[in-house]
Amino acid sequence: MKEVIIIGAGASGLMAAISSAKSGHKVTVLEKNEKAGKKIFITGKGRCNITNATDAPNLIANTINNPKFLYSAFNEFDSFKMMDFLEESGLRIVTERGNRVFPASMHSSDVIRTLKGVCDDLGVKFHFNTQVKNITKNESQDKFIINAGKDEFTSDYLILCTGGKSYPSTGSTGDGYKFAESFGHTVTELSPGLTGFNVKEEYPKDLMGLALKNVTLELNINGKKCMKEMGEMLFTHFGISGPLVLTASEYYNLHVRRLKKKKNFKGIEAKVIIDLKPALSEDELISRIERDFDAFKDTFFKNSLRKLLPKSMEEIMVKLSGIKPDKKAREVSKKEISELAHLFKNLELNISSLRAFEEAIITCGGINVKEINPKTMESKLCPGLYIAGEVMDVDALTGGFNLQIAWSTGYVAGKCE
Ligand SMILES: Cc1cc2nc3c(=O)[nH]c(=O)nc-3n(C[C@H](O)[C@H](O)[C@H](O)COP(=O)(O)OP(=O)(O)OC[C@H]3O[C@@H](n4cnc5c(N)ncnc54)[C@H](O)[C@@H]3O)c2cc1C
Repeated sequence: MKEVIIIGAGASGLMAAISSAKSGHKVTVLEKNEKAGKKIFITGKGRCNITNATDAPNLIANTINNPKFLYSAFNEFDSFKMMDFLEESGLRIVTERGNRVFPASMHSSDVIRTLKGVCDDLGVKFHFNTQVKNITKNESQDKFIINAGKDEFTSDYLILCTGGKSYPSTGSTGDGYKFAESFGHTVTELSPGLTGFNVKEEYPKDLMGLALKNVTLELNINGKKCMKEMGEMLFTHFGISGPLVLTASEYYNLHVRRLKKKKNFKGIEAKVIIDLKPALSEDELISRIERDFDAFKDTFFKNSLRKLLPKSMEEIMVKLSGIKPDKKAREVSKKEISELAHLFKNLELNISSLRAFEEAIITCGGINVKEINPKTMESKLCPGLYIAGEVMDVDALTGGFNLQIAWSTGYVAGKCE
């Protein structure tokens, strides 16, 4: 029986603890918070989108950063195994639209209670309010010495499950990067992921709270299309957010990272192009506007877009169109109508930056996966050190995929093979 210490009682730490104890190890978890799973508690708007009921290839397809690294872990412990494990442990789960899996109670606290309960049954020891400060090895290099202020711990194996640095209020403050670096690991550039965009234009502020459904959003970086999808987006006090934008932020990080590696890198000019009427071609939209304007005849142009747009967007679109607001609908020229249709299908917003880590769902970047054995999650640089979860340079789209990364890699790391 080996002594295993796990730093972090988040998603990957709890799963690593379960897997480690089941492998016959003596397991202790050190957690800086007063309880386990503070981040799990806020996932899925408090409902916890636990995983995505899909096979390993699809888990890979939804992983944006370093998907191949996760191949073994997903194959060893995929979402169906996670679902079976939870049900066997007494948690009822339901699968919703898009294969998103939730606890049937719709309370994330039940997921935490289940995982913590299994840990307790397996005899895992928890030390809460215990913030690890630094980690070293003993002289013979066969034990870890973990310094947590007034307390010191030793172990044969150490599993780093400290998470990323987004939503630091949950305890994930990026400490793990520093610990990994102290063992010679490199950490790739970190940036907020699955988050909104600040934009250069001022008008989104005036549309704050307005959600657009069934629009198409294209992300364009330095003149190249990097993503185009249909869905829902939201105007906010800083710019844009909502499901489509969160997805776009993942591709933004991926492409910016690739561009920065290029020798002739000169900077980033990024924008989103929104198609407000994706169901109609530009010509069909022109005909539709012409029909509307025929019907509206003597109505001012500024009041003639109501059939095409949510009310709160009318004034902005009138302004952006450059057409005189007090022109009669029938007086709007063919050229103006065609430009208006073009605007509807190509509403541009220039991205100034991503939102801060404080409100990003995940951290992109992390411990370089080239330095970790994908079959065991053991460090290639420091024998006995295992790494799991978001602290690594892996990240995925929304839909339960990020938690599944934590479950799969935590499970593999916990075995300490
Ligand atoms: C608002 C929000 C909603 C989300 N919703 C979903 C969702 O529905 N589905 C999904 O798949 N993903 C979701 N995610 C992402 C998901 O929560 C994370 O990817 C996942 O929790 C990462 O697990 P982890 O174990 O790597 O890290 P964490 O869950 O962040 O756990 C790390 C733990 O380590 C502890 N720790 C850190 N440093 C130290 C130290 N020095 N000493 C002791 N302890 C330390 C922290 O206190 C923390 O408890 C969401 C994230 C956020 C912020």
